[in-house]
Order: sequence, then structure tokens, then C-alpha cells
Amino acid sequence: MTDHITRFAPSPTGYLHLGHAYSALFAAEHGRRFLLRIEDIDQGRCRPEYIDAIYEDLCWLGLNWEMPVRIQSRHLDEYQQAVDTLQDQGLLYPCFCTRKDIQNEIERAGGAPHGPDGQLYPGTCRHLSVTERADKIASGIPYALRLDMTKALAQAGPLYWQDAEKGKQQATPEIFGDVVLARKDTPTSYHLSVTLDDHLQGVTLVTRGEDLFQASHVHRLLQALLNLDTPAYHHHGLLVGKDGKRYAKRDKSLTLRSLREQGLSADELIKTYL
Ligand code: GLU
Repeated sequence: MTDHITRFAPSPTGYLHLGHAYSALFAAEHGRRFLLRIEDIDQGRCRPEYIDAIYEDLCWLGLNWEMPVRIQSRHLDEYQQAVDTLQDQGLLYPCFCTRKDIQNEIERAGGAPHGPDGQLYPGTCRHLSVTERADKIASGIPYALRLDMTKALAQAGPLYWQDAEKGKQQATPEIFGDVVLARKDTPTSYHLSVTLDDHLQGVTLVTRGEDLFQASHVHRLLQALLNLDTPAYHHHGLLVGKDGKRYAKRDKSLTLRSLREQGLSADELIKTYL
């Protein structure tokens, strides 16, 4: 047992499956204190019944977490404050593009570099004038807020973070381009809320699947821009099924709930699958 404070941070968009069980147990085993966070900013996809199911399933697995649970949708004002701080530094700009606009611009430009989340934003709205921005906002066109990556990097300078498996990493958040930090429908994003929450919850070791390894580059940059603590990271391998594919919420038969209903005990589940 280390001296770390770790957390498990599921999104309540479905029932927990074996991959979540592995990740939750991994976090609990790597911390002296273990916290829980419900990542429910995507109100279109999250449902309250899945939050209750998360508590039930984690209890059944034998996990104990410290109270209070941090529920992201109750902290939108804190994310807004972080957005304001970045905006005051001139690091954000409003982006009015729809997906279609972005696609058209990329086609017009003859392509765009690929980042971890797909093709990079071509920067259309970064070039709007102050008046153009004001006019669009006044006419009620919905907009997201994007990070001006070039400016942000110039301000932050070289940054590093530590991964338990891969060692010291130089942060390369530019692989994401001008990431969205506040979405059209909510004053935050995955990157912003995770980074702020890990700081506010005092997390010292972030454990999560290696599918989120690249995201840590952006989180490290946000820590520098917002003056937040930098935790250590441990990205673990993803659990795969017999077919070699990782478990996903769509594999209904492998939710913890359905395995429990089939009569499996938590111990058996851990021995058989994890
Ligand atoms: N909420 C994210 C997920 O369910 C995990 C976030 C994180 O661990 O940083 O995939």
C-alpha cells in the first residue's frame, strides 16, 4: 500500500462492466485513501439510475470510498471560474463551428493532421475579428470555447509529468490542437473538469486506462495554466475479452450487474476475469 490518494471516476452512461471493475480495484489498491467521482457533465447521456447502480456495484465488489462523492454536475460554477481564469489570460476563443463546418473546412484545406480524438480543428474561428465574434454572440449562435494551443504553450513553457509505467514524459498537448474546454451545452469539458477535480479532491496518483494516456498531456498543460497541483499518473493496460477486444458498456452480458444476477460472487468474478 502506498501513501497515495487515488480515485475512480466513472461516467453514469450505462452499467459498470468488467473493465470498470478492474479500473476501480486498481485505483483502490494503489491508494491509502480512495475517492469516488461521478463524471456526469454530459447530461444528455448520463442518467441518475446509473449513479445508484455505480454505488451498488462498487459496494458489491467490496470497495469502500471516502465521502463525499464528488458529482461533477453539482460543481458547474467551479468549472466556470476556471474558464474565466483562462479567458482573463486571453487563452480561449469562441468557436461557432458545427461538425459539418469543421468537416467542410478540412476538405477545403485538403486534410488536417490526426490527433488522439481524430482530425485536428482547422482553426477557423481563431481568426475571427473581435467584431465578428461579438456579432455572432449577439445573434445567439451557440459556441464552444477552445484553447488557443500556440498561445497556451508559449505561456506555459516546457512541461513534464510522470507515468508509473512509462516514466518521465514531456507534455505534448499540441497533438490535440485547439481543444474544446467548454462545450456548447455545458461550461466545461472532460479535460477541464477532470483536471480541476483531481486538484480539488487532492488526488496524488491518477490511475486510469491507457486509452486516456494522451489526455494527460492536456491535463498537465491545464495544471500549469490554472496553477493546480500535478499528480503522478499510472495508466494501466485495458482488460480484454476472449475475442481480444476491450470491454465496453455495450457488452450487456458482462456488466457487473448481469454477472451478479447469473449468481457469480465478487470473489469469483475477480478470480475468473480480472
Ligand atoms: N470518466 C472517464 C471515463 O469513464 C474517466 C476519467 C478519468 O479517469 O480521467 O472514462
